[in-house]
Amino acid sequence: MRYVIIGGVAAGMSAAMEIVRTDEEAKVTVLERGKDYSYGQCGLPYIINGIVPSTKDVIARTVSTFREKYGIDAKTYTKVTDIDPDKQVVNGMQTETNQAFQLSYDRLLIASGADPVVPNWHGIDLKGIHTLKTLVDTDHLKHDLSDNIKNVTVIGGGYIGLEMAESFQTLGKNVTLIQRGDQLANIFDTDMSKLIEEEAVRHNINLILGEEVTGFSGKERVETVETDKGSHQTDLVLLSIGVKPNTEFLKETGIHINGQGAIHVNAYMETSIPNIYAAGDCATHYHIVKQLDDHIPLGTTSNKQGRIAGANMAGHPLTFKGIVGTSIIKFFDLTLGRTGITEKEAKKLKLPYDVETTTASDHAGYYPGNEELTIKLLYNKETNLLLGGQIIGKEGVDKRIDVLATALYNKMTVAQLTDLDLAYAPPYNGVWDPIQKMARKI
Ligand SMILES: Cc1cc2nc3c(=O)[nH]c(=O)nc-3n(C[C@H](O)[C@H](O)[C@H](O)COP(=O)(O)OP(=O)(O)OC[C@H]3O[C@@H](n4cnc5c(N)ncnc54)[C@H](O)[C@@H]3O)c2cc1C
Repeated sequence: MRYVIIGGVAAGMSAAMEIVRTDEEAKVTVLERGKDYSYGQCGLPYIINGIVPSTKDVIARTVSTFREKYGIDAKTYTKVTDIDPDKQVVNGMQTETNQAFQLSYDRLLIASGADPVVPNWHGIDLKGIHTLKTLVDTDHLKHDLSDNIKNVTVIGGGYIGLEMAESFQTLGKNVTLIQRGDQLANIFDTDMSKLIEEEAVRHNINLILGEEVTGFSGKERVETVETDKGSHQTDLVLLSIGVKPNTEFLKETGIHINGQGAIHVNAYMETSIPNIYAAGDCATHYHIVKQLDDHIPLGTTSNKQGRIAGANMAGHPLTFKGIVGTSIIKFFDLTLGRTGITEKEAKKLKLPYDVETTTASDHAGYYPGNEELTIKLLYNKETNLLLGGQIIGKEGVDKRIDVLATALYNKMTVAQLTDLDLAYAPPYNGVWDPIQKMARKI
């Protein structure tokens, strides 16, 4: 069986490895337009501020490991330009040699990911304007961050924007963070995002909300960020205003692509065309709480979907059960966790919801070192089903958000949270976990 995979990072290489494990006769070819394989993009902000020393540290397996140890034909600088589903061939270009190529497949996986959105603003091509997605981007940005760079502007207050604002600040830069909307971190409700905004200000981030960037000016290098309300001097810009699935090259194939540009997949990771699968940031993600196909591009989901796609391609049926919208971010001294849906999303879905918000200690009050947690729970007021949770604090956010994520996956009611047998000793918790105390009140 000839397996062809487009994209050599999380989803693509999870699939390739699963195929190799499942089908001993497999002939796997991976077509990657870049030079690097299988690296953890999640670690890139920590390379910029030096917590992680080098881009080499985030590579899980190198190109030569895939070739020599696993017998995978891992191609680099190989860009796919279109697919002919009737003939089952992939067309493309080897970009180092400018040689066109054509490759036949029996089973094809599209794992082409999503690229940062780069609007066509005036001055966008000036030097010093960066995005962060690949190891090459990381090296460019790191190289550009000399001591002469004093003022850095981050555009976009999503999770990459927040992580990068912190990263630049720890390098001693003056950081301006510009967000178009009226709150940071749209994946949280406005009341919770206030805590994030306070943390930004506490760490001397020049936070600008409600301003829309319109362009840049400078001689060769960016000097000014222009917005609908004024302008801001800068020496360097990081653009992090979202990502867009890499699916443009599929336009003529007839593959069903949704309004966000993501390839529609079923639980087996099959697309609307036989023998073509998709997984990761370029595909849809079934949301268990919303009960619809969503697009929440994350490494966790890409690895899972890739593995499931690979298993199915190699004839071992596995299904993707869906996401519940869980994510976690470190922002200075705070951990920001969320799972399920927010009030904003519940309103959009017209769900009969209610909320409970509290502040609580992360562990027993009499044991030293207490830190405050702010917890918001969302539930269906007719069925008592848990709908979501947002937790912000210094300690103990991660374990509680994962408890809530597990509860959501298992479609538990709020009342059932009180029955959970959660770990307790004074340095870690109270006898009743704060989320159980909240559940008792609901
Ligand atoms: C800075 C940063 C921090 C992140 N932090 C987190 C985090 O903390 N937690 C988390 O869960 N997720 C995080 N993510 C997201 C996570 O890294 C992605 O969800 C994941 O890498 C997606 O994997 P993928 O394989 O679907 O796509 P990608 O990683 O985008 O890989 C797709 C590959 O396909 C190649 N490709 C595209 N088009 C073509 C073509 N036409 N021909 C050939 N090759 C092509 C691309 O070059 C790319 O290498 C972060 C991402 C970034 C950028």
